[in-house]
Amino acid sequence: MSVRVGISARPRTVDAVIGRTLSHTADRHYVESVRGAGGVPLVLPVLGPGDVADLLDAVDALVLTGGGDLCPSTYGADRWPETGDPDPARDAFEIALVREAVARDLPVLAICRGLQVVNVALGGTLVQHVPAVTGEDHRHDDRWDEGVHAVRVDPASHLAGVLDCTGLEVNSLHHQAVDRPAPGLRPVAWAHDGTVEALEPVDGGPLLAVQWHPELLQHRLEHRRLFRALVEEALSR
Ligand code: MN
Repeated sequence: MSVRVGISARPRTVDAVIGRTLSHTADRHYVESVRGAGGVPLVLPVLGPGDVADLLDAVDALVLTGGGDLCPSTYGADRWPETGDPDPARDAFEIALVREAVARDLPVLAICRGLQVVNVALGGTLVQHVPAVTGEDHRHDDRWDEGVHAVRVDPASHLAGVLDCTGLEVNSLHHQAVDRPAPGLRPVAWAHDGTVEALEPVDGGPLLAVQWHPELLQHRLEHRRLFRALVEEALSR
């Protein structure tokens, strides 16, 4: 049996033969990580909130990808000067996608912005600029395929079982993070400055959400295990 894994696209304007045009894109690392774990990667375009049911009918699991900052209005906050330009269409689509996936008990792996979308979609809030709160810079774009900081994982968490460890080195390409966790989610991993690096459902639902980018660390076994766990969870259904 094949496991079809939807990958949420990043909409971006690209140069096409007809000129500048919107394109629904997925970085190759997500595609290759899903394929490497035995799944069939399917890139899901950014449609409207009313389209998420049809899209999720077509997949067995979901990867929520990284990207820009959510609009703070999605979690009832005023915009800080450090917050990037919003993409309201992507926000609305992905928030609806998360709510429908959770309602269906669909296996989900949420990465970076994906974790933040999950938290907001389920009622949580975000820190809009981590250095302003903890004094630590979590944005190390030039070292994207390296461990740049340690993460401590709750030994009692499902995540610790998936990773088969309670501490690991991760990359860090974010400047926002979880502030108040959504009801129904709990933090299960932290950086040394207290920044939340992973969330999971308190009810044991099939959702893994990490603040780092495991798709860029596929040369390390523990990060491959996240994609493997997603595919195996879908296979077990
Ligand atoms: Mn980090």
